Parts: sequence; C-alpha cells; structure tokens
Amino acid sequence: MYLSKSRYCAAVQCPKILWLKTNKPEEFDDSVMNEAVLKTGSEVGDLAMGLFGDFVEVPFSRNLQEMIDETDRLMQEAVPIIAEASFSYNGAFCSVDILKNLGDNNVELYEVKSATSVHEIYYHDVAYQCYVLSKLGYTVTRACVVHINNEYERHGELDIQQLFTIVDVTSEADVLYSDVEDRLAMIENYMKQTDDPDQEIGLQCFDPYECGFFGYCTRELPKPNIFDIASLRKKKKIECLCRGIVSFEDILDHKPIDSKYLKQVEFEIKDLPAEIHKDGIQRFLDTLSYPLYFLDFETFMPAVPLYDNSHPYEQITFQYSLHFIEEEGGELKHKEYLAYPGEDPRRGLAEQLCRDIPMNVCTIAYNRGFERGRIKGMARVYPDLADHLMNIHDNIVDLMLPFQSKDYYCKAMRGSYSIKYVLPALFPDDPALDYHNLEGVQNGGEAMDTFARMAKMELDEIEEWREHLLKYCELDTFAMVKIWEKLIEVCG
Ligand code: SF4
Repeated sequence: MYLSKSRYCAAVQCPKILWLKTNKPEEFDDSVMNEAVLKTGSEVGDLAMGLFGDFVEVPFSRNLQEMIDETDRLMQEAVPIIAEASFSYNGAFCSVDILKNLGDNNVELYEVKSATSVHEIYYHDVAYQCYVLSKLGYTVTRACVVHINNEYERHGELDIQQLFTIVDVTSEADVLYSDVEDRLAMIENYMKQTDDPDQEIGLQCFDPYECGFFGYCTRELPKPNIFDIASLRKKKKIECLCRGIVSFEDILDHKPIDSKYLKQVEFEIKDLPAEIHKDGIQRFLDTLSYPLYFLDFETFMPAVPLYDNSHPYEQITFQYSLHFIEEEGGELKHKEYLAYPGEDPRRGLAEQLCRDIPMNVCTIAYNRGFERGRIKGMARVYPDLADHLMNIHDNIVDLMLPFQSKDYYCKAMRGSYSIKYVLPALFPDDPALDYHNLEGVQNGGEAMDTFARMAKMELDEIEEWREHLLKYCELDTFAMVKIWEKLIEVCG
C-alpha cells in the first residue's frame, strides 16, 4: 500500500484519521468537505503549473507505478519543468506539484496551495516530499510553497506571476525532515491495530482541518454536550472535556463558561419558554423608518480574479433581492437583480441598486456587516456611484441586533443569532419559510456554487438555475420581512 502526501499530513494531524479512513471510511462525514474548495484547489494547481514557463505534466493514473515510470522517463530526458512528478520510496509516494529538474539529480520542488498564506501543516507536507526525493538520491536544493497572493488586483490579462507568492520553506522542511522517518514507522505500527485505536479528542480534531470523524469519535458522549454550545471557542470546549464537564447538566452544575453561553444550556435543560424583552425590541424598532427596504446580497468568491479591479477570493456580489414597503400599512413590493455569468456583475448590480434604493432611506439587512462590506467595495471600484452607494451603506440597520442582544431568545435558537437558527425558531411550522422546500438552491453556499457553475452551462440550463437563484434570494428578504413583523407583533 502506498502512503500519499495527503495521507501523511492526515496522520500528522491525528493518526486515527488515517486508521479510520482505511478501516471505517463509511463513518466519515462528508459535510466537512467543501466541493467548491476542492475544485478551487485543482484549478489553482493547474494554473500554477505554468509559473516557470513550459512544462510537461505527468498524467494522472490510478496505477501509480505508471506515473512513477513516466516521471523517471522525463527525468532521464532532462525535461526541466515537470508537473505532478511522481516518486515513491519504500511505499511513501508523492506527486510534486511542480518540480524543477536542474540536472545531476538536483531538484527544486514547489508545493502549490490555494490558501493565501503558509500554514504549519505545509512544512510537514514539503518535508515528506523532501524525504522521499532524498531517499531516492536527489538533492532538493530548494523547497517552496506557492500560494495565492490576495493583494494582487487584476488589471487586464491575468498575471500569474503576481497571482502567486513563492515562499522558500527549505529550512522549515529541514527541521522536520528527521521526524519523517520516525513518523512513517509510527504510522506503520499504528495501522496494524485491529481495534479502534484509543485517541483522546483534542484540538487536533479541528486544526488544521475539521475532522470528518468527529461525530464518530464523540458518539458515546451524552447529547447535547459541550460541543453543541454555539460560538464557544474550541479550546474552551476541549478544556471542559478534559475536566470531565461534558453534558449540559455538568455545565449547569459547574458553570465553567461565561454566562452568555449558559443561556443556551439553561433554556435546554429547564425547557424554558421564549424570553422577550419588549423594551429592547421596541428601541430597535424605533430606529426604523418608512420607506423600509429589506436587502440581501448573494456573492461568490473566485480564487482567481475574473474581473478587473478585483482580488483573489474577493466576495463578488452577483445578485440581490429587495423587498420594500413605502409607508405604514403599505403594500409589500419586490425588486431583484441577478447577473448573467461571463460579465462582471458588479457594475450592473451597483447601478440598479442605486435606482432601486433611493438616498436617505432606511435599509434593513440581517448581519449588515456583510452587505455594507460589499457596498463599500463597489463604491471603491465605481467612484461615480460612490455617493449614492455610501448613502445606502450608512443607512443600513441590522435586523440581527434584537437576537444578538438576546432581547428575543428561545430554546430553538440553540444559542445562535444567525438567521439560519432564528427563522425556524420563530416560524417552526411555516412551509413558505422553509428553505428545504426550495428547488435547486437552498443556502448561500449552493447559491455561490451555482453562479460559478453557470459560466459553463448552456443557455436553457442557465435560465433554469436563474429561477432557482431568484427564488432562493427572494426568500431571504421575505424571511426578513416576516422576522420584522414578528418583532412588531411581540411588542404589540
Ligand atoms: S475526531 Fe479527533 S480523535 Fe477522532 S480521528 Fe478525528 S482528529 Fe482523531
């Protein structure tokens, strides 16, 4: 059996991950894997291959020996740049993202990451590759991590020299080099275990990556438990676990956490009714004035900037929904914008937003920091619209406030003030407000992914998915209207 660099890194995080992947793969919770992130990683990897000019790529094969043989052939032919150059020593296999073949068995290796900085786990990744290559008689003269430079701003043609940052990690990998052999021996022994290995839950379950076996490894803990406390830091949760404070009953007995987190526990254990502070809610409602505009944006975050004046991973707004009521008791009206793929969506959207929302009106968003951030970004790129955009920006009120301050709290919010929890808590049986009843797009992540995918769709398919996106975003602002109405109702 071959060990790959990703499996090696998984074992660095926690050897039980590797054991479970091999012995109980069905227990892995896929929801920790983000398909879009994986796709981004592969697109970025493909793009980075051209960083040093012409290259030859070793084609992927399930038969790793074919990749190793092809690499060997290319090395013999003195091909100077090889992508996915593949090697194996004693069962330890690696494909080097980009290999510079300098001759006389001297090589430089480049590990490409779609992240925007160097994380510690990358040193282990590179050290493992250096180990394999050194054992095969190569001298790694330089080992680098190539990552996305999020300060790059695109103007015209994509400049991959600017898009990527190359960080020399030779010395960091050297420090870890001597660990590799010991770790490989440890992995070999560890994998011989026939029963579930004993492994304490710890910070390694979340860092550097969220572990998909967490549900399996914590299956015997009481439910709900310390890990169900919303927003509490992971470190604190682990500390409590180590002290034996696990169940909500334990938490209430020992009160090891700040009182703001205890509300969730108390409501759950004592089955308390909703807590509603009318004064606080009324103070919030008094900050609103007609006409009222309920605004929600959808964005996507291309790792590789697609448009001029945009950065890697910039949140590009491609859609909004806007419900509005012009005067008290007035009719609820709706407007919306959804760009077509292929064009920079921001200009058209910003222009229509300025037409749809007049100056000096009250706009409501849920978690307004997000909408404000996007509007500010558009104001920077389009100075001619900046006055109007910043006027909208300055007049946005946050509908999240009464829930964040716990002026309105109930058990079903489970300690959270995110709309994802607040909406079903306020309207548990309303199918019109249930995102699960939507077709195609049911959450922001799917909206993001759908818009990115539309770039490669045929026109009729685009129209079909546009319908799904429009319905989804419309529900976002309709839900905000209902939440606002509920606040009025409970104060009445
Ligand atoms: S949940 Fe934690 S202990 Fe279990 S395999 Fe993952 S990292 Fe290891």
